[in-house]
Amino acid sequence: MPGFELFGDLERKEVNDVLDNGVLMRYGFDGMRNGHWKAKELESELAKTFSSKHVQLVSSGTAAVSVALASAGIGAGDEVIMPTFTFVASFEAIMMLGAIPVLVDIDDTLTLDPKALEAAITPKTKAIMVVHMCGSMADMDALRTICNKHNLIFIEDACQAIGGSYKGKPLGSIADLGCFSFDFVKTITCGEGGAVVTNNNQYYLNADHYSDHGHDHVGNDRGAETHPFLGYNFRISELNAAVGLAQVRRLPEFVKIQKRNYSILREALAHIPEVTFRTVPEGGEESYAFLNFFLPDLESARKVSKTFKENGIDACFHYYDNNWHYIRKWDHLRDLKSLFPISNEVKQGLEYLKTKTFEQSDHWIARNISCLIKLSWTEEEIRARAQKMVEIIKAF
Ligand SMILES: *Cc1c(COP(=O)(O)O)cnc(C)c1O
Repeated sequence: MPGFELFGDLERKEVNDVLDNGVLMRYGFDGMRNGHWKAKELESELAKTFSSKHVQLVSSGTAAVSVALASAGIGAGDEVIMPTFTFVASFEAIMMLGAIPVLVDIDDTLTLDPKALEAAITPKTKAIMVVHMCGSMADMDALRTICNKHNLIFIEDACQAIGGSYKGKPLGSIADLGCFSFDFVKTITCGEGGAVVTNNNQYYLNADHYSDHGHDHVGNDRGAETHPFLGYNFRISELNAAVGLAQVRRLPEFVKIQKRNYSILREALAHIPEVTFRTVPEGGEESYAFLNFFLPDLESARKVSKTFKENGIDACFHYYDNNWHYIRKWDHLRDLKSLFPISNEVKQGLEYLKTKTFEQSDHWIARNISCLIKLSWTEEEIRARAQKMVEIIKAF
């Protein structure tokens, strides 16, 4: 997945453009910048890539989720449904607005289970946030139907599935608002950065203003701009945007390499009867950033994962025992370890986590191994890797 593996002259040239005139900020300083508007250029490039009307760049993927929620008017006391398997950013971004994350089981797609989701809807539910984990997607038609039926805002976190698609549409462009991360380990990187993607004019204007202190961005005198509403600073810098501009143009090449490497690995593992693969919803095409497979039980997954590590098969994750991505290890959320006081509404809203269990998620995550697909592997390296992995799995 990581686009940083293939840094080169294209990235250097874009960054040097910015350093040559010294305007590191994305807004203003029109006279000094010699026509360089890297963030604006990256936004229009991303709009093409993700077939969407509007893109607002921000400082991170986590910021993108907060800005998306804020732009849709979600805040204090609102419930936002999210999956048990994601990155900690999902609940962080929800809680930053004083909203309540409601965690819900995943299914064999490794993303939100539509049945579990529908069962979790209450009168306080305002939005659902699907997270396309490890390069593949949820059943978007089923989720859209539920959103329409219950009049909910639909948010899509495509941070880990850049370049994937569902029924011909780029992931991240399907829901009401899509969120991307371009942090250092994502398929395309800005170093740090993120984006909110939408076809809704009002959400876009809200995101544009909110991410820059509420500035209305009217005219070309920043000092004279007014503030229609309160905002914050989630701006990206021109330096970060410059790296992303070079990277987004290379996305088709990156996805092609991922697909080749993924396919070699998958074909080798498919010969083992005990290995099964995650379900990809009909009409979906993965981004090939990860290969995900299931072993028969928790014990075999733990053993295989350990033996992979001992034999130099890096970047294969057993998320059941992982601190970052799965509910089982999120004690800091369960115990509400906050530096500052948290509202009673959120405290009460999260009481359920003290007792709730997620057997269905455990069932899938316990048996899952998720292998990062690198861009820098040669065909020989990936074939040797595949063979070693097959030998290790077969030994069990
Ligand atoms: C990386 C990631 C984020 C957060 O992105 P940052 O840019 O690191 O803040 C959010 N959601 C998912 C699923 C991610 O993988």
